[in-house]
Amino acid sequence: MHNGATNYIDGVWREAVDGKTFTSLDPSDRQHVLGNYARSDTKDVTLAVEAAHRAYRLWRTTPAPARGAIITRMGEILAANKEDLAHQMSREMGKVLVEARGDVQEAIDMARYIGAFGRMPDGYTVASERPDVECFARRVPVGVVAMITPWNFPVAIPAWKMFPALVTGNTVVLKPSEEAPGVAVSFVQMLAEAGVPAGVVNLVTGMGAEVGADLVEAPLVSVVSFTGSTATGQTIMERCASLGRRVSCEMGGKNAIIVLDDADLDLAVKGAIWSAFGTTGQRCTAASRLIVHRDVCSKFTDQFLRAVQSLVVGSPIHDGVDIGPVINERQLAGIHEYVVRAVSAGATLLYGGNRLRGPEYSSGCFYEPTVLGAVTTDMEIAQMEVFGPITVIMEASNFEHAIDIANSTEYGLSLSVYTRSTARTFRAIEYLDAGLIYVNLPTSGAEIHLPFGGTRKTGNGHREAGLHAADYCTEWKACYVNYSESSTLVRAQIDV
Ligand code: NAD
Repeated sequence: MHNGATNYIDGVWREAVDGKTFTSLDPSDRQHVLGNYARSDTKDVTLAVEAAHRAYRLWRTTPAPARGAIITRMGEILAANKEDLAHQMSREMGKVLVEARGDVQEAIDMARYIGAFGRMPDGYTVASERPDVECFARRVPVGVVAMITPWNFPVAIPAWKMFPALVTGNTVVLKPSEEAPGVAVSFVQMLAEAGVPAGVVNLVTGMGAEVGADLVEAPLVSVVSFTGSTATGQTIMERCASLGRRVSCEMGGKNAIIVLDDADLDLAVKGAIWSAFGTTGQRCTAASRLIVHRDVCSKFTDQFLRAVQSLVVGSPIHDGVDIGPVINERQLAGIHEYVVRAVSAGATLLYGGNRLRGPEYSSGCFYEPTVLGAVTTDMEIAQMEVFGPITVIMEASNFEHAIDIANSTEYGLSLSVYTRSTARTFRAIEYLDAGLIYVNLPTSGAEIHLPFGGTRKTGNGHREAGLHAADYCTEWKACYVNYSESSTLVRAQIDV
């Protein structure tokens, strides 16, 4: 599938109907063209959705254990290709190799977990209030699931969405980010190798505002599953509301670590470094706020800044590099503008704040790890998701104040607290408003067998992964069977 034949429709690799392509560039070396990909539009979406709709009839009647076996095989194929896929990912979207391996591992874990769902209970029985009536409820697929995914977890996120959808009998059209199309192509190739029949998984590459928007509108789509920014998710939710279409959205975050006065500061610093700068701060769970009790703020800040100074920025495929590039020039410029505005609003630049320009950085999108102090909740930098290697230190006067600061944004994805107190641990769990709560752990590090997602502007009430991973793409069907062989009508709720 070279030279733009990167759409996978009904089991065939093909170019966009109009033959248009777009180019993917390496973020650590923008001179390096990684490939040309189909720039799809409505015509390609129509073909893909129709193929998925046709395949649905057969796939939904394929026994669930057989569907699960294909997903388990996909896990084996991912494991066998982990290193190659991780390298492709590092090049394409810039996360360091060790993290790219983790991204693939998440998909492997998900395949192993969800593969087994094919043999798990998919409903329950209850007693009827009528004699000789059997009642049961079972989970059924919804049809064609449209998946629109971001670039920052280009294997894990399609896996979180796709495996639960497939094991429950849905078919899929995937629209990956235009910033990471190559990894999506590899992922879909592996699904075909695992035995996913033609039409069950389809791929259309291209631009969000073009093929992404078209996919949301496609008449035969039953549910849209989106992960990406809150702004895009908002647009998609509005369209889906007017179409009367189900939609599940996982969106932005403004996550925080609270460091209390009884915390293990060494551990807190390590957790803060990983949370703030892992994936160059481009994780939905990145800790872009460090809320520190005033009694330990100066000590924590000194220790944290020393650790930041030792971070190595560079090509993500080189050993010893901690921070790779930012995804593109536009994002890099946006990050810098946030820093400039924060300083003019009164924040103190404690470290970084510049684009890196040495010879090894000259053709890539590299930004210094950056730390701002004296930040308060009313500042833009304390409220907006920056999505880059930037974090801020905010001082809290006590436990309650720290909780209030943590909850003071519109987002509710991941919040963490470092403390040795059992009482504060459970109070924090109670009062922090987010889908993921960590104690003495970084804000990133979700495991695939727990629910993943956020409250308020991070989500619209759904969760991915965990036991309820297939909720977003299934319906409940309640069934009542009269086996009395009697001609007497017995009605529920009606007195006799
Ligand atoms: P983005 O919103 O720019 O793009 C996400 C996807 O939507 C891409 O495939 C894009 O092509 C598509 N898209 C863009 N405009 C569209 C439109 N009008 N209609 C339909 N599709 C459209 O986000 P991104 O930059 O790829 O990813 C970063 C964002 O994703 C961050 O905000 C991050 O927090 C969020 N994210 C959230 C989670 C989570 O689980 N909550 C996980 C990872 C990333």
